[in-house]
Amino acid sequence: MPTQQEHGPQHIIDQLVEATQAIVDAASIDPALLLGIGIAAPGPLDHIEGIIYEPPNMTDWKEVPLKALVAARVGYPVVVDNDATAAAVGEHWSGGAKAAPNFAFVYIGQGVGMGAGLFIDNRVYRGSTTNAGEFGHINVDPAGPPCSCGGNGCLEVVCNTNALVAAVYRELETTHTSSLKAYAATGQMTYKDVYRAALLGDELALRCVQQMARTLGRAVVSMVNLLDVELVVLGGKALREIGLIYQQEVQQVLNNTMVARKRRRVHVALSQVGEDAAAVGAAALVLYEFYTPQLLGL
Ligand SMILES: [Zn+2]
Repeated sequence: MPTQQEHGPQHIIDQLVEATQAIVDAASIDPALLLGIGIAAPGPLDHIEGIIYEPPNMTDWKEVPLKALVAARVGYPVVVDNDATAAAVGEHWSGGAKAAPNFAFVYIGQGVGMGAGLFIDNRVYRGSTTNAGEFGHINVDPAGPPCSCGGNGCLEVVCNTNALVAAVYRELETTHTSSLKAYAATGQMTYKDVYRAALLGDELALRCVQQMARTLGRAVVSMVNLLDVELVVLGGKALREIGLIYQQEVQQVLNNTMVARKRRRVHVALSQVGEDAAAVGAAALVLYEFYTPQLLGL
């Protein structure tokens, strides 16, 4: 269900509790059989305490103890995790990345929002404060636009759905043959207009998507060089319908520039779970917490 974050955390928590109750009622199952509720949220957050700090795109969310607030209302155990980490858990649990003990799930949402869920040595890697995988803040252009983290030119402000539309507007100032000209004239051109045009063979649209994908690819190279993962899974709403272009470009950048590329092969794949990877992952988080004994308490 769409959230109305302009109403603040309390309203979203109310929506969440209502939706949970509606699902339990509709499923006609014994509530006592429910293991718990998984919530995937943008970071930064505290996975252990279930506290959401101040996500850049969620106004009025300041150190909200989401886990405790929701658990008190629904009466089930609650697991809160980063959306990218949830997506990685979902991919692993559903079989998409089962065979890879070391992989990264690059999660790209609609608008500004990007992260990486990390599986290292067959287990989730969360780091010392459970905020590992802030992939969107890898710097790709120090002279680029400001980022909410305080830096300039982080990946997520340079490579996102809004930035792609802005890039097409800029290109259209000098290119007059694109099918997007009519959309741009309305001032209402959307990301969907751009990727649909790219899929239909519009050269300008395709060129802009490929440039964006190669920027993503350069950041993926940094991550692979650092972590030596064997698989990079791409997923999230931004890749709806055009994931294949991103996959091809990122794979090519990796093949051409990764350290030790002659001695290892790193595979770039699209999420098998699809654009709802974070939501599926949220459910998988509960299974992961309750059915992975060696990880209980992490
Ligand atoms: Zn940043």
